[in-house]
Amino acid sequence: MGSIQKVFDVIVVGSGTGGSTAARFAAKHGLKVCLIDAKQRDEIGNKICGDAIGTEIFDFLKISPPKNEELSCNIKGAKLYAPNLQKCITLMDPKQAGYIVNRFEFGQRLLNESLDAGVEQFLDDTKALNLIYNKERVEGVQVKLSNGNKEELKAKVIIDASGFYSPLRKKVKSNLIETEISKEDVILCYREIIKISSQECKVQDPEYISITLDQEKAPGGYIWYFPKNNTSVNIGLGTYMNLRGRIKELYRKNVFDQYITTSKYEILSSGGGVVPVRRPLWSCADNGIMIVGDAACQVNPLHGGGIDPSMRAGFFAANTAFNAINNEDSSIKFLWDYNYQVMTSFGAEYAPLDLLRMMLQIFSNEELNFGLSQELLSGQEILEISSTGRIELSILDIVSKAFRGISKPDLLLDLNYLRIRMNEIAKLYKKFPRDLTKFEEWKLRVIQEYNKIRKILINTKK
Ligand SMILES: Cc1cc2nc3c(=O)[nH]c(=O)nc-3n(C[C@H](O)[C@H](O)[C@H](O)COP(=O)(O)OP(=O)(O)OC[C@H]3O[C@@H](n4cnc5c(N)ncnc54)[C@H](O)[C@@H]3O)c2cc1C
Repeated sequence: MGSIQKVFDVIVVGSGTGGSTAARFAAKHGLKVCLIDAKQRDEIGNKICGDAIGTEIFDFLKISPPKNEELSCNIKGAKLYAPNLQKCITLMDPKQAGYIVNRFEFGQRLLNESLDAGVEQFLDDTKALNLIYNKERVEGVQVKLSNGNKEELKAKVIIDASGFYSPLRKKVKSNLIETEISKEDVILCYREIIKISSQECKVQDPEYISITLDQEKAPGGYIWYFPKNNTSVNIGLGTYMNLRGRIKELYRKNVFDQYITTSKYEILSSGGGVVPVRRPLWSCADNGIMIVGDAACQVNPLHGGGIDPSMRAGFFAANTAFNAINNEDSSIKFLWDYNYQVMTSFGAEYAPLDLLRMMLQIFSNEELNFGLSQELLSGQEILEISSTGRIELSILDIVSKAFRGISKPDLLLDLNYLRIRMNEIAKLYKKFPRDLTKFEEWKLRVIQEYNKIRKILINTKK
């Protein structure tokens, strides 16, 4: 390894989907960018994932959608199954349509495009160890290079996109950024990609991703069946973190044995991972630092999709860094705008979905079967919540639901109460303060809304 440069406008830690996007757009702005990743270059993109991405992010960023070897298949929509598999809600709208990608090829493409956009220095096999502070402001990162040497790299802005286990978030000295994430807000996943070479056991519904809610087979999460092409599938499940020791056994019994009903198959890839399933961190920024993607809990709490929001956040962070550097001030005063963009866009969808996720986790299979079969929460409503974080119901809808829910009035009341709270939270997020001095007051109001739902959860668990 020759000598390396040590001073930049922006250092991006992690070249996953969030970091590659941040580096790409920061470089496009003409900023001097250093991108680092702990993995070797030819390992970047190798991530245990369901491999599903909606179409929207590619239009939003004006970048090419997956094609050729990067694209496994196109998806028309999602099918949501009740635990008894008798009721299936088909969700079809532009938000649900998308792609199943070859995750490695996709990750490599994003990395290569960020380097082509003009990243000044890319260091692979390089691990960020710690943040360097100058008084109250982050001004660099300590890294361990591929040759084992430790170095200090400095920049006006640090973007941490190092994933859920981010070592940097834990080292932040901030009253704004949370360093620890509660285990209750994290889902443990296990998945395999399987090639089926049998005529009797075919890939089901190859144009839809399928999700099954089942509190007994996948407690706290769900089972997924995502087609990759006509002969391969990505199947897996997510559960509460405390089932760590049992996840493979649950997968084998409740996923693999259910779907792979032939001895003619080949396991192409297997592995586990974790996904944060809560609203984004209270603040994803502080003096000199912005946090992007899984490191900032920027994941859809309902289905755990985090590729789109990590890329969106990477774009927001790059623009905010450019603005701050132009104004020669990378304190929170200028970086606050990154929070504003996150919270008023996908934050305003994910915070209400976080409430829905918490509620779904305490419903029994019997309640899920009933709620889905009676459409107490319909496909249309689920779509509306997923795209706006809000549901508008007419009096007629409410009355007709009341009739359908008559044998489970408590469930109906809880769902209606949940709807109101979700709408309130969405409104609050849309009004996220532009001004840091109003933040504590805003945060208090959000906590009050959460506590109203927590009260129901506690009463129901008793
Ligand atoms: C089993 C599973 C299934 C999923 N399925 C889907 C799905 O179908 N669709 C979807 O949208 N999302 C899915 N997700 C979530 C999605 O994969 C993540 O939300 C997304 O990849 C987040 O991207 P990121 O850039 O924030 O982090 P990551 O992709 O985790 O990238 C972080 C990068 O930082 C690097 N790094 C880590 N530590 C350091 C360090 N100290 N120094 C330098 N570099 C470091 C890592 O090597 C890595 O390259 C799934 C997740 C799991 C676990």
